[in-house]
Amino acid sequence: MDVSRRGFLKLSGLSIAALASGLGFDPTIAEAKGFVLKLEGSKKIPSICHFCSGGCGMLLYVKEGKLIHLEGDPDHPTNEGALCPKAASLLSVAYSPNRVTKPRRRAPGSDHWEEISWEDALNRVAQKTKEVREATWKANDEIINAKTGQRDLLSVNRAEGIAFLGSAEVDNEESYLISKFCRIIGTPYNEHQARI
Ligand code: SF4
Repeated sequence: MDVSRRGFLKLSGLSIAALASGLGFDPTIAEAKGFVLKLEGSKKIPSICHFCSGGCGMLLYVKEGKLIHLEGDPDHPTNEGALCPKAASLLSVAYSPNRVTKPRRRAPGSDHWEEISWEDALNRVAQKTKEVREATWKANDEIINAKTGQRDLLSVNRAEGIAFLGSAEVDNEESYLISKFCRIIGTPYNEHQARI
């Protein structure tokens, strides 16, 4: 008998199921029970995947402060329970030993990164932003009339040296805050990676 790989897998599955039911044991029930036991005592938290702007709904199961399982939210209108591979791997990402959880700095000329405190990191970012803003501030810009050739100096007041590049991981609320921040510090250069 010629059996394809797919056919072989099907036949083996059927044989196992037949053997299991012959022994009075339903493997699907055991599997479901194991799953329920795994989630016992956990808290189910509805959330949104942060990986891209798709905004798929997820259900996170947290036990003793640790994420133990996640799945697509079947009631979410965007993904109706499905998750793409990126989101499905989030559990591994969350606890990966390679994940950087503290700010780091590589000093000029250095060949390695050093951990620094959050306070140091935020102070440095604030200080550098201020320096760049002051050094590149443009109060006026010359406008040339295309028809007459007349030159006029107009007040523009913008920070020429600062730009923001949004990411697909930026959610609505973060985008709102970034846009506000751009206006506060005076930069018109606020773009998104998807448009580049
Ligand atoms: S990364 Fe995948 S699961 Fe997450 S929002 Fe995008 S499409 Fe949805």
